[in-house]
Amino acid sequence: MNSLNDRLRHLSPEAREAARQFPLRIPPALAMRIPWEVDGPLTRQFLPAPEELNHAPGDAIDPLRERQAQGLPGMLIKYTGRALLKVTTECAVHCRFCFRRHLREEPLPRRLRDWEPALAAIARDHTLKEVIYSGGDPLTLSDRRLARLTARLAAIPHLTRLRIHTRMPVVTPERVQDSLLDWMKATRLTPLLVVHVNHADELHPSARAALEKLVEGGIPVLSQSVLLKGINDNLEALTRLYETLIDARVIPYYLHMLDPVAGAGHFQVSDAHALRLMAGLQERLPGYGVPRLVREEPGARSKTGLPSKP
Ligand SMILES: *Cc1c(COP(=O)(O)O)cnc(C)c1O
Ligand code: SF4
Repeated sequence: MNSLNDRLRHLSPEAREAARQFPLRIPPALAMRIPWEVDGPLTRQFLPAPEELNHAPGDAIDPLRERQAQGLPGMLIKYTGRALLKVTTECAVHCRFCFRRHLREEPLPRRLRDWEPALAAIARDHTLKEVIYSGGDPLTLSDRRLARLTARLAAIPHLTRLRIHTRMPVVTPERVQDSLLDWMKATRLTPLLVVHVNHADELHPSARAALEKLVEGGIPVLSQSVLLKGINDNLEALTRLYETLIDARVIPYYLHMLDPVAGAGHFQVSDAHALRLMAGLQERLPGYGVPRLVREEPGARSKTGLPSKP
C-alpha cells in the first residue's frame, strides 16, 4: 500500500485530472498484491494516467450508443433471445479502459419495484431465453437482492438461462461465498458466469480458488478479456492468461477489441496486430483454450468476429 501511496503522491497534474474524471478505485486486498513501483499489467489497468486526457477523433463518451439502444431503464436488448440488465453502476475496481467510464451517473432501477417495467417487458417477449446481469458489476449487489430479482425472472416461463458478467471473483475473490452459490444453484434458470480478466497476474491463488469454488458448485465459468496495449498485447502474456484460465477450469470465451471510448485511446491495439496474436494463440493452445476475437459495433445483430467479413 505504501508504494501505491508513493505512486499517488507523484501523479502528474494530468493524471490527477484523469482521477478526478474517473476516480481510482481498488479493493485494499488487491492493492496489496500489486507491485506499484513498476509499470506493469496491473498498475496500468488501475492507475490513472496522463494519456487519459488525450481524446482522439472518433472516441466517444458512449461508444456503443447504449443510450440510444436503451428501451426501458436498466435494460438493453440488442441481440436475439438475450436481455441485458444493468443491475448497478458500481464496480469494485475502476479499470482505466472501461467503456462505461463516462456513464456512471446513469440512473438505474434500484428497488425491485423499479424493475417492474423491465420485468413486464421480458414477460411479454417470448423470444427471450436468457437474462444477463451486467453493470457495473452485478456482484457488488448483495446475494439477497440478486436472489430476489432472480426469483422474479425465474417465474417467467420462457426464460431458461441466467448469465452473470462480473470481475468480482478476480478483484474481490472473497465475494464468492456459499451464499452466492446457494441462490445460483437453487434457481430454476441455468446459471452461467462470465469472468472478466485480462492478465495472468490477476489470477492470484485466492482468485483461482474463487473460480474453482464456482466450478465445483456446478456453475459453468467462461472468461472475457479486453486486448489492451501495454497490458496483454503480446503472445507470452496471452498464452499465460489462457493457460492459467483453462487450468483453473475456466473456458475462454471472448477477447474483445477495445471500444473507442474517450480517454482510453492509448490502450488501443490495431486489428492487424490482434490477428497476428490470434494466429499465435491458435498454434500454442488447445482449440478449446483459444478465445474468439470480437468487437462490438453499434447496431450489429451480434458481436462481430475478426476478421470481419467485407
Ligand atoms: C455482449 C452482449 C450480449 C451477449 O452477447 P453474447 O454474444 O451472447 O455473449 C447481450 N446483450 C448485449 C446488449 C451485449 O452487449
Ligand atoms: S469492472 Fe468492468 S464495468 Fe467496472 S470499471 Fe472495470 S471494466 Fe468497467
